[in-house]
Amino acid sequence: MRIAVPVETEGQETRVAATPETVKKFIGLGADVTVQSGAGAASGIPDADFEAAGAKIAATAQDTFANADIVLAVRRPQAAALAGVARGAAVVATMDPYGNEAALTGLAGTGVNAFAMEFMPRITRAQSMDILSSQANLAGYRAVIDGASEYGRALPMMMTAAGTVPAARIFIMGVGVAGLQAIATARRLGAIVTATDVRPATKEQVESLGAKFLAVEDEEFQQAQTAGGYAKEMSKDYQAKQAALTASHIAKQDIVITTALIPGRPAPKLISADMVRSMRPGSVIVDLAVERGGNCELARPGEVYVTDNGVKIVGHLNVPGRLAATASSLYAKNLFAFVETMIDKEKKTVAINWDDELVKATLLTRDGAVVHPNFQPKSE
Ligand code: NAD
Repeated sequence: MRIAVPVETEGQETRVAATPETVKKFIGLGADVTVQSGAGAASGIPDADFEAAGAKIAATAQDTFANADIVLAVRRPQAAALAGVARGAAVVATMDPYGNEAALTGLAGTGVNAFAMEFMPRITRAQSMDILSSQANLAGYRAVIDGASEYGRALPMMMTAAGTVPAARIFIMGVGVAGLQAIATARRLGAIVTATDVRPATKEQVESLGAKFLAVEDEEFQQAQTAGGYAKEMSKDYQAKQAALTASHIAKQDIVITTALIPGRPAPKLISADMVRSMRPGSVIVDLAVERGGNCELARPGEVYVTDNGVKIVGHLNVPGRLAATASSLYAKNLFAFVETMIDKEKKTVAINWDDELVKATLLTRDGAVVHPNFQPKSE
């Protein structure tokens, strides 16, 4: 049973899908692990550490993929790179399938079983495999650190002999995994924290972290959470009421961090250009939703810039990758927890249980075809 860990080829990617710790565990299950030279470099893991954990180091991608039964990656590997893998190999990665249907077909064409880690059900059994949570948690933390470092003042109240510095005001919009961690981090740094969301369950969570909750709590708000625990797209009427409520609040904030997402939809627009204009010079907006269209009308993907009225807008891409070592460590553990369930520990071979709900939920391609229900041709 051969496991391959390639260098990530997407330019922005700093993470790696295995660490010396998970390599050791895979070897303990009877696997041979090959890591491509340099795969861990941006996460602070030199080849020597992978070697010391028992991995073989391959010089090229071709040598890494050759005869692999399992490929572990952060981003979806290019179909062409998979030419040398074993028939029916399992490729486990963040597949980003929506809008990339052609790439999915290409992946299917290689004959691999491709698994999308982001489709892992959010059930108790799969919590240790939940890459969305492990990475969003780090993104929420990093958003506060990025916001604080772009902000030209201190966050906590400081009473010094030279005078008193007031605490910064931080507003978190969207209180899922990232937002909750952002609240906790901002509180630890001494800011005065408020937060908003459209799901009623978040009110208690926000307050339990010592922050103040602000939302339009009407009838629609009471129904805003889906059975899966996600937010619904709110009506135009609700959005208008939400904007009216938050506009005057945003004008008084030093840092606003936005994390609001709706599954399968563009990110909701929560901060208009007018709201940005109402903020004081030197204040900062960190838009974590920028890869999905942004919560702030003026956010630019991959850019940090200052608006005409002196507001800094931070639109970093791949925010978990800005904490590459920690993000890789947690991502690699998520992958190990899932892939371990596909290994027959007696026979030391790959043995996928096709009836397992985790396999069914994440499997994108099998036997040359795209098999996931979300990507089937629509019947007329
Ligand atoms: P997400 O990334 O999809 O969205 C982030 C937040 O944005 C959500 O809280 C959402 O309600 C909010 N949002 C959407 N539209 C908004 C708007 N117009 N204004 C303000 N906020 C808006 O969310 P997530 O972090 O993936 O969490 C989604 C759910 O999954 C939560 O209920 C969370 O508790 C749950 N969850 C469960 C598990 C588990 O059981 N294993 C693990 C992680 C998360």
